[in-house]
Amino acid sequence: MTKPLLEVRDLKKHFPVRRGLFRRISGRLVAVDGVSFEVRAGETLGLVGESGCGKTTVGRSILRLIEPSGGEVLVDGKSIGDLRGAELRSLRRDLQIIFQDPYSSLNPRMTVARIVGEGLAIHRLGTKTERDEKVRRTVERVGLTSDSLHRYPHEFSGGQRQRIGIARALVLDPRFIVCDEAVSALDVSIQAQIVNLLADLRDELGIAYLFIAHDLAVVEHISDRVAVMYLGEIVETATTRAIFDRPLHPYTKALLSAVPVPDPETKRERILLEGDVPSPLDPPSGCRFHPRCPVAVPGVCDRQAPGTTEIDGHLVTCHVVEKELGGATA
Ligand code: SF4
Repeated sequence: MTKPLLEVRDLKKHFPVRRGLFRRISGRLVAVDGVSFEVRAGETLGLVGESGCGKTTVGRSILRLIEPSGGEVLVDGKSIGDLRGAELRSLRRDLQIIFQDPYSSLNPRMTVARIVGEGLAIHRLGTKTERDEKVRRTVERVGLTSDSLHRYPHEFSGGQRQRIGIARALVLDPRFIVCDEAVSALDVSIQAQIVNLLADLRDELGIAYLFIAHDLAVVEHISDRVAVMYLGEIVETATTRAIFDRPLHPYTKALLSAVPVPDPETKRERILLEGDVPSPLDPPSGCRFHPRCPVAVPGVCDRQAPGTTEIDGHLVTCHVVEKELGGATA
């Protein structure tokens, strides 16, 4: 098996909570708590969970847009915390991000040519003529015409703006892109076009994606594997087929039950979760999902945090699954 391009090991991000006149630290918000996964070159890992589960914080911590509180991120086996100078600059080109909101992530005062070309200018790549040519080719590659280059973001639709965001990430020839809810703000028909464009770029250029979404249906068509997050932790990771055909974790089953089935003959029984996601300021004891879990075992799930069990490469963190299916503790 090929070596992973990206390895995330035990990543943590805790935000201090300050209160009172002197802004003293009175607690901590546990946004990400010990997340680990790998992504190989050309692979797409879908990262799914409800709003506030910490998935966006994972994506931003990987790119060092926010500083993690603990853990390690390795690219080609090298910890990015140890990189300096030219190595760090080159890594910044390799790892890019596409943001959720194409309305607020593009500077309204800059033309498309400047927005897309900014990274090339910052990294001083090529001559001005070479940069202009690269920008033109990239804009065309994402499905916009070259007369878009001299227009401003407000002159485009939501889907077109997201294409500009993709061009901005793509122009630096990255090897890995965090797609942070990149299609969530778009209409369903436009979502499909953008997902297809991202899939084509991956297949053509061998780019790897961390594809973050709150909806399992959105990640199905683009992801090779899926990791499901709940309240700062990954609770299940498997191939996309395994997650859709044989989900093991009760939370994944509930998320999947909300995904519409295209075949009208087939019906999925909807599992309604009670209550809201608990506050990350005070996560529940034991398994964090226990207050909402339909199969929680009293006296066990509320007291002991479950370990991660591996069954044929399918990782799941649940006492009941471990007891029922056994498997190796990962
Ligand atoms: Fe539910 Fe218990 Fe499994 Fe947590 S460990 S998901 S509470 S059964």
